[in-house]
Amino acid sequence: MRRLAVPSLFQHLRRPALTALSAVALLVASGVMTGAGTPAARAQALPSLGDGSGMTVAAERALGDSIARSIYRDPDYLDDPLLGDYLQSIWQPLLSAARSRGDVDPELADRLAWELMISRDRTVNAFALPGGYLGVNLGLLSVTETPQELASVLAHELSHVSQRHIARMISQQDRQAPWLIGAMILGALAAKSSVDAANAAIVGSQAVAAQTQLNFSRDMEREADRVGFGVLTTAGFPGEGFVSMFDKLQQASRLNDDGGFPYLRSHPLTTERIADMKARLPLVPARPVGPVLQAAATVTPDQEIHTMMSARARVMAENGPDRLQVWLRNGQEAKAGLGARYAAALAASRLGRHDQAEQLAAQVARQAGPAGQRHAEWLQLEVGLTALQQRGRSTPSAEWLTWRDRALASGTRAGLLLGAQAALASGVPREAAQRLHGWVIERPRDALAWQTLSRAEMAQGQRLRSVRAEAEARAAQLDWPGALERFRAAQALPAPDRSADPVELAIVDARAREMDQKVRELARKN
Ligand SMILES: [Zn+2]
Repeated sequence: MRRLAVPSLFQHLRRPALTALSAVALLVASGVMTGAGTPAARAQALPSLGDGSGMTVAAERALGDSIARSIYRDPDYLDDPLLGDYLQSIWQPLLSAARSRGDVDPELADRLAWELMISRDRTVNAFALPGGYLGVNLGLLSVTETPQELASVLAHELSHVSQRHIARMISQQDRQAPWLIGAMILGALAAKSSVDAANAAIVGSQAVAAQTQLNFSRDMEREADRVGFGVLTTAGFPGEGFVSMFDKLQQASRLNDDGGFPYLRSHPLTTERIADMKARLPLVPARPVGPVLQAAATVTPDQEIHTMMSARARVMAENGPDRLQVWLRNGQEAKAGLGARYAAALAASRLGRHDQAEQLAAQVARQAGPAGQRHAEWLQLEVGLTALQQRGRSTPSAEWLTWRDRALASGTRAGLLLGAQAALASGVPREAAQRLHGWVIERPRDALAWQTLSRAEMAQGQRLRSVRAEAEARAAQLDWPGALERFRAAQALPAPDRSADPVELAIVDARAREMDQKVRELARKN
């Protein structure tokens, strides 16, 4: 097998048509990363599960970073703060539970990314990548009906990471070349975007070769189920989540519908798997919610919020005009539930029917209970924002301004980013900039917050701060050359802009030197 040079692949990856995240999903689904169902996988089950030797945590993280860097640039990569916060409300308790159980030791907690990346892909899939990055498709969010169903899939994938399955799999395959799998993943991504069919065929055959060699064993799948179940229930989610998710997948497979359920191909449902999970249920101490969940979650996962976020994912995954009309029609029926109504409001907004969107969003607010009120208000803010942006000079209502200010002050990422957009659209960039500035100081890896801050600073004529924020957004997505280029652009601003803020300029100079260093390191590694 020919070794691929990573630098040339990165050049391929800059092509705009690339949909790397879905390609990764495809690879995972076809068994490169998490598949256990192929005959090859069954034939060569790995001998020892307890052995974490081989690839170091640092090497796995570096490999994961290089894959993440490509995914951030992919048009299929989606940073929707509302869906992101909802996923975090499930993910953080799981992570805390895994730490309290000792599945994730302090070193692993500290050195891996533990980052969820949403893909616009509407197929049902979630997948662990090297370095603690996890992909979650919109299709998975759409199809799950309860927080615990979603949590069960995330707990399973988390356990592939905590048990170091990827590192073990990679080192098992090729101890001399831990970068090989990264090159293969990136190679397959490049092939997907390439118009050069011959080239694609070459890389494709390597992906096929990888597929026969790199599979999670059935033992690893069983371990991810077992550990995942413990993580799920320790976090306070009902263990039934695993069983109902399995039932859902089983129904899909009976309908021969696994084209939309790649998760089924990487996680074939054996009667043994299902029986094993059902057998564990009586062993779990009775609910209610465990202490870990209460301590860790900023938003307690709630059925109403799940229903709304699942509806949001459905609309975002399938948003062609025909589909939007269907969402709109369904949500207008008298008996429409909360999810259908939410989807309809969003669909109407996207179709440019702003009055209808606002009416439907108001209905959502009336229909939602106390737990769903904040999301209903954010929906009203969002559809009003779209109306404001598209209609131009209309004046926002006093009610809408209240929603905007409450969102900005909510202390949540979703509220802040939505509120900041609303502030920008309604001519108060200063409020947005102040809040965002405080936020990124605490969370420098929040690229979208930096991007929004950049717009808020520009709207106030603060060019140096704006260009610096743009540079930080690129650095947050591990794009060192892009960040360096923007920091240098900030240094090259005309004198009035540059000298307006000496402190900011000193930061820009220091950050430019840091980025320069990182670009050189990256060049050396490649
Ligand atoms: Zn698995």
